[in-house]
Amino acid sequence: MKLAIASLLACSAAAFAPSIQTSRSSTELYGRKPFISGNWKLNPQTKEEALKLGGDIAASITEDSPDADVALFVPYVFIESTMGVVGDKLSVGAEGVCPEGNGAFTGAISSSMLDSIGVKWALAGHSERRVIFKETDEYINSQCVKLIEQGMSVMLCIGESLAEFEQDLAGSVCAVQLKKGLKGVTKEQLSQVAIAYEPIWAIGTGKVATPEIANSVHATCRSIIADMYDDEAADSVRILYGGSVTPESVDELMSQPDIDGALVGGASLDSEKFARIINFQV
Ligand code: PEP
Repeated sequence: MKLAIASLLACSAAAFAPSIQTSRSSTELYGRKPFISGNWKLNPQTKEEALKLGGDIAASITEDSPDADVALFVPYVFIESTMGVVGDKLSVGAEGVCPEGNGAFTGAISSSMLDSIGVKWALAGHSERRVIFKETDEYINSQCVKLIEQGMSVMLCIGESLAEFEQDLAGSVCAVQLKKGLKGVTKEQLSQVAIAYEPIWAIGTGKVATPEIANSVHATCRSIIADMYDDEAADSVRILYGGSVTPESVDELMSQPDIDGALVGGASLDSEKFARIINFQV
């Protein structure tokens, strides 16, 4: 009898093992490849500095690094030369795109221009673009659609302000930004989309959202995607966290089941810090 109970316990432990695994890392369970990305914004100030930074970051990716996608979103003028120094270790993406195809749009860069130099990824919806450059959800949606039609991929950034967070509106803001940003994007096209949840109050402020807060908003975003598409889409889409990610905070963030990666601003300008983030440990 003792033996029977012992083997029953062993069996039930084995039966429960996958669900223990599930709660530890649904990123792994659902085959979502971790994605670490840097956003250089209006930095650095010279091509020389950009090449040094890009080269040092690429050198930090070794065979011992986690099996993750790595991308750097860099100023347009540095894209091609940075691609040259990073080789195939990481992708070099654009910080934005003009949704127009061609014509009288002085200063703009189109998706076909980016595509023609081998760019695969671009950001859309970063809060600095929404707030400082007044880009609307409709404009951001047209950027997403244009990039997808071009065969490229888009990292759609979403996130609430501090006032909205304090009023418990994070989920509602993300729902609106996801629904408007992805309008017209089909379930099949979602493979060309990654979501970056970036609470505005955590960007560049040193205030990183606790892993629990970030994970719970990510889980909410996943359920919004499930409502918009289905469970399969929600389980497959990668959701990155952004907002003051550092070498000190990355491991715990990446251990959360619904956090599949990080979008990193400030720390991506320091090759040692970003190297540690790329080489996160879970
Ligand atoms: C960002 O710009 O997307 C960002 C997350 O910046 P930081 O890491 O500096 O907060």
